[in-house]
Amino acid sequence: MPAALLDGKALAQTMRAEISARAGEFARLHGRKPGLAAVLVGDNPASEVYVRNKRKACRDVGLESWLHRLPQTTIQSELLDLVVRLNTDPAVHGILVQLPLPKQISEDAVVRAVSPAKDVDGFGPENLGLLAAGHARYLPCTPLGIQQLLVRNGVNLDGAHVVIVGRSNIVGKPLALILMQKAPGANATVTVCHSRSRNLGELTRQADVVVVAMGTAHFLKEDMVRPGAVVVDVGINKVDGKVVGDVDFDAVQRVASAITPVPGGVGPMTITMLLHNTVEAARHQAGA
Ligand code: NAP
Repeated sequence: MPAALLDGKALAQTMRAEISARAGEFARLHGRKPGLAAVLVGDNPASEVYVRNKRKACRDVGLESWLHRLPQTTIQSELLDLVVRLNTDPAVHGILVQLPLPKQISEDAVVRAVSPAKDVDGFGPENLGLLAAGHARYLPCTPLGIQQLLVRNGVNLDGAHVVIVGRSNIVGKPLALILMQKAPGANATVTVCHSRSRNLGELTRQADVVVVAMGTAHFLKEDMVRPGAVVVDVGINKVDGKVVGDVDFDAVQRVASAITPVPGGVGPMTITMLLHNTVEAARHQAGA
């Protein structure tokens, strides 16, 4: 029997309705909408699309959104000045600096400059530190979206062995921290693999849940998955003009019990969690 589809598009719609209700309640109580300021530096076409989609999603759920565009030649101090202004603007509850940045700017310096209270991407050291210590505030959007996609589709993570392929700061590493938390919707036994891991197939075959976040098209094959396992594909790769994931979907869906499609799996959940974090940030800043 082919695997059940973990439909991120459908779940994102359901969750956006919930977020919209919370945003409306905030606006009624405080006389203004929760607001997200997006900063786009340079002219990376993919970043243009990401920011456009995020702003449209904001408007759709009733959030205020502003776009600050800076040229490719922007120097680091100019961007840091803007971040400082946004940090102190009371109408701005969340700040999103779209990555990657031009090479003359240190991404690390910019991520660190965003006020932890407005760090709705959850990438800053304070929010990551809180997560590692078990007192999470804003969780990074893609890993939080993956957890929601699993939990809300009835995948029991408690005691499950989750094998994550990829240890990036935005996906693999924070996902491991989230899923190993002593908390409902977590309590998993987590293995994190990367390019130096030996016998990768042996590791992924032990998993109840395999998450692949590598950026290599069709990498995870059928023989790397235990029959009945759940498979989450985070990858976004372009092959012959088509967007495909890191999982060899057609083959793996024959052995998995459930699988995320690409597109329409993790992607829509990521933006939805950004909306969620922005409303949460607004509520925290208003003392709710
Ligand atoms: P990244 O920073 O490039 O990290 C890739 C990870 O994969 C690294 O940890 C790397 O290991 C590991 N890796 C590479 N080749 C490997 C191999 N042969 N065997 C085992 N591990 C290997 O990527 P990322 O930012 O996490 O993104 C991963 C993918 O997810 C990309 O396609 C990206 O576009 C996509 N993505 C999607 C969303 C979404 O919303 N759907 C969000 C973020 C990212 P080393 O650490 O040893 O180099």
